[in-house]
Amino acid sequence: MIDAAIVGAGPVGLLMAALMRGRGLDVAVFEKRPEPGTQSRAIGIHPPALAVLDTVGAAGPLIRSGVCIRRGSAYSSGRKVASLDFAVPGTEYPFILAVPQHRTLDVLEERLEACGPGTLHRGVGISEVVPDGGGWLLRGKRTTRAGPAEPFEAGCRLLIAADGAHSGLRAALGVTPRVHDYPDHYLMGDFRDDTPFAEEAVLFLEAPGIVECFPLPGGVRRWVAWSGPPEAQASAEGLAGILRRRTGHEVDPSSNTMLSTFGVRSSLVPAMVHGSAALLGDAAHELSPIGGQGMNLGWLDAAALAPLLERMLQSRKRPDAMLDRDLAAFEQSRLRIARKASRQAGINMALGRPLSPPLLRWRNILIGRAMRHGAVAAFVARRFTMH
Ligand SMILES: Cc1cc2nc3c(=O)[nH]c(=O)nc-3n(C[C@H](O)[C@H](O)[C@H](O)COP(=O)(O)OP(=O)(O)OC[C@H]3O[C@@H](n4cnc5c(N)ncnc54)[C@H](O)[C@@H]3O)c2cc1C
Repeated sequence: MIDAAIVGAGPVGLLMAALMRGRGLDVAVFEKRPEPGTQSRAIGIHPPALAVLDTVGAAGPLIRSGVCIRRGSAYSSGRKVASLDFAVPGTEYPFILAVPQHRTLDVLEERLEACGPGTLHRGVGISEVVPDGGGWLLRGKRTTRAGPAEPFEAGCRLLIAADGAHSGLRAALGVTPRVHDYPDHYLMGDFRDDTPFAEEAVLFLEAPGIVECFPLPGGVRRWVAWSGPPEAQASAEGLAGILRRRTGHEVDPSSNTMLSTFGVRSSLVPAMVHGSAALLGDAAHELSPIGGQGMNLGWLDAAALAPLLERMLQSRKRPDAMLDRDLAAFEQSRLRIARKASRQAGINMALGRPLSPPLLRWRNILIGRAMRHGAVAAFVARRFTMH
């Protein structure tokens, strides 16, 4: 029987596995996808998460693969409303790092393979978890390239569900999250970066809805536009038209490399630890992508949970009187932080909704004045960078 099974090799499951391997624990990760994903959802990596990634040797390769965003600016009707420096004094990483999610996953997988060869098992989908002698029996299917799917079984002492926002394991454990659906939808696309913004993140606060854009490696820029109810068929030309009308900036539709639409939902479980099972990442809390903190929050949870899981395993041989108290403190503090991040994302989305031009003008004046105060700017920078 292995010490811990992690279900899901997303960014959170992979980091958790590397952290546990680093503590000398016998861990396996089961991932239903036979091949690594190529999608690019999460791009923003925040300074506290970089410090955690550094403990498994992932920060360096990620920084070398990404773009360091040191500043953000907000424009409206062609005029600069405010700008913000992301360098929080005293921090080791005075920037937000932008890396496409598939590259982040590659780096984490490489680091995991370096510290625990053979930890990741691809093509294994877990569909059932059964309590078994103080641990868990996992059942599912293993897909091989060679032939039909085979039944799969494994036993573990601890179970970590990192299987994403629609977690099947969460349901199997009988946990129901509180879910909130937002009315907002967004259109998102990556295009060749022909703007003058270089390594700056830019918000366009416009009457028909917000547009945000972020630099990515390879001379690419990601654009995200509030779009109201989803369009029947999103197209690069359609998004380019929205960007032109709202911001005056031209993007070349033929340079589009990623296009997607997304609606927004948030969810939060009442508890993350359930006996010898834990919910982690989006399985525990889904945040609005506007604000870009979901993956980072999952990583910070993993860093806080890993030493406690090690103590849980040790307590089977040697009683640990403080363990229950420390697990309760972990859960209380991480759920409080998730609620705070979710509220922040709600505020970000509210600021991006359509507004009548007179109201927008007044709001921009207020934002501009507030951001000229050093204390306000420092507070906002700390919020944006998850300090
Ligand atoms: C458009 C968009 C932009 C975003 N931008 C940011 C950002 O900039 N910064 C940020 O911090 N966050 C961002 N997020 C959020 C971020 O993508 C998620 O918080 C993050 O991916 C969650 O990671 P995870 O490992 O918990 O889950 P996932 O990434 O969903 O991974 C779960 C894994 O589990 C596997 N799996 C599922 N079920 C099973 C099963 N039964 N058996 C085996 N394997 C299974 C899946 O195949 C998947 O690989 C964004 C999200 C979106 C949609």
